[in-house]
Amino acid sequence: MTFESDCARVAVALQAFAERAGRADGPVIRQPAMAVLAGDLRLEDLIAGGGLRDEALARFLEIYLAASTRLHHPGYMAHQVAVPQPLGALAALVDGFTNNAMAIYEMGPAAATTEHVLLNWMLAKAGWQPAPFPGPGDATAAHGGGVLTHGGSLANLTALAAARARIAPEAWEYGVPPDLVIVAPPACHYSIARAAGILGLGRRAVVAAPVDGLGRLDPGRLAACLAEQRAQGKRVLAVVANACATALGLYDPLRTVAEICRTAGVWLHVDGAHGASALVSPRQRYRLDGLDLADSLVWDAHKMLRTPTLCAAVLVRDHRDLEAAFHEEASYLFHDKDQPGIDFIHRTVECTKAALGLKLFFSLAAEGEAAMAAFIDRQCDLATEAAGFLRAQPDITVAVEPESNIVCFRLDGSDDHQLALRKRLTEVGRYYISTAEACGRRWLRLALMNPATTLAEVVGLVAALQG
Ligand SMILES: *Cc1c(COP(=O)(O)O)cnc(C)c1O
Repeated sequence: MTFESDCARVAVALQAFAERAGRADGPVIRQPAMAVLAGDLRLEDLIAGGGLRDEALARFLEIYLAASTRLHHPGYMAHQVAVPQPLGALAALVDGFTNNAMAIYEMGPAAATTEHVLLNWMLAKAGWQPAPFPGPGDATAAHGGGVLTHGGSLANLTALAAARARIAPEAWEYGVPPDLVIVAPPACHYSIARAAGILGLGRRAVVAAPVDGLGRLDPGRLAACLAEQRAQGKRVLAVVANACATALGLYDPLRTVAEICRTAGVWLHVDGAHGASALVSPRQRYRLDGLDLADSLVWDAHKMLRTPTLCAAVLVRDHRDLEAAFHEEASYLFHDKDQPGIDFIHRTVECTKAALGLKLFFSLAAEGEAAMAAFIDRQCDLATEAAGFLRAQPDITVAVEPESNIVCFRLDGSDDHQLALRKRLTEVGRYYISTAEACGRRWLRLALMNPATTLAEVVGLVAALQG
C-alpha cells in the first residue's frame, strides 16, 4: 500500500530531522529567500504534474525539512511553541487521515468523546466542576464547560463573546451597546484588543487596568478603577488577568483580583494561554491560586503541554455562559436530535472543526501527567537557573526573577542594540531567541520550551552575544 510506505518514508525523515537537530548538528534557523526556496521545492512543477510519492516524496521532504525551523534543536529558545511530544504528532496524522470534523457528534464520536474528557481534565485542574456525559441525570446541576479551538487568540475571542452575551445578550441581534468596556493590563496579549475590535466594542473600549511597576494587575487600585468606569456610565464586560503575561511571564494576583470582580459583579477572564499549564504541576499550580473564582480561562496546550499546534481550550466555570455566546441557528445542523453525544458546534466560531483533543490526549498519554508536570517543573527550574547565570554577568541586566519558563534580559546598551544583537544571532543561526517590550524597554527573551535545552545553551548563547 502506497500510504504505508509513504508513511514509513516520512517517519524516517522526521526522526532523522529531530535527531540531527537534537545533536545541535547545523543551525536552529535558516531563512533562504522565498523565491529561491519555491524553486528548490519545485512547488509549481509538482502542482502541475503531480508525482509526489516514493523517491520524489523523499527528495521533497529533504529540501522541506532543511528549510524548516528546528524546534528540536537545543538552541531553540525563541517562541512559546511546543517541541511536540512525537506521539502527539501522530495524533495529527490520525486526525488528518480520518478527517472527522467533530463539531457535531455524528461526525466524530471518538473525537468528541476524547475532547469532552480532556476538557473535563482541564476543568478539574482549574478547580471547576467537570461536565457530565449526556444522558439521564440531574440536568440542573451546576458544572463547567469548554471547547477546544484553534489557538489562544480565537479562544480569547470566544471567552469574551461569552462575557458579552452575559452583560449584553441583546448584542447578538441588535449590535453592541456603546457603554461596554474591557479592563485589561497593558501587558495583555494583543489578541484581547483584537477581540474588542472584532466583537464590535472597538479597540478603544479596552481600558488600561492599574498595574505595578512590572505590569501586573494592582488589586489595590482595581476596585477604584471599576468604580470610575461605572461613574462614567460604562459597564465593564470583563476584567482580563494574565496567567502569565506573554512578555515577562509574570502572573497577576488572581485571588484578590477575583474577589474584587466578584464584589463588583464583573466577569473575570484569565488569559492562561501560556501559563495555565502550571496547573498540572503540584509545585507550580499555586501561581494560579484564586482561579476557581474566575469566570473563564484560556489555556493553550500547544505551548507548555507539548502538543502540536493548534490546541487551545476555552473553559468556563458555568457551562451556560459558553452556550450563550453564539446564538446561531442552522437548521440542517442544529435540529433537535436525540443523540448519545455532545455537539460542540454551539460553542465555537468554527463549523468544521479538527479533533484537537486527540493531539492533547496523545501528548499527555504518551507518558502520563506526572511526566508532564516534571517537564513543566524542569523548564521553570531552568529559567531560574538561567536568570541566575545571566544576573552574574557584569554587562547583563535581568528584567525580573522568572515565574515561568520565560526569561527577559538585556546587554548594556540601547534598545536598538538589543535588536541588532538578536538579528546577528539569528543570521548565524546557532541560537534562536526572541525579543519583547516590557516596562518601557526592549529585552532579549528566552522561552525555554525544549526539554533538550540545558544551562550549557544559555552559557553558549551569552558567549555568542558578548563575542
Ligand atoms: C500566546 C498567547 C496568546 C495567543 O495564543 P495563540 O495560540 O498564539 O493564538 C494569548 N495570550 C497569551 C497570554 C499568550 O501567551
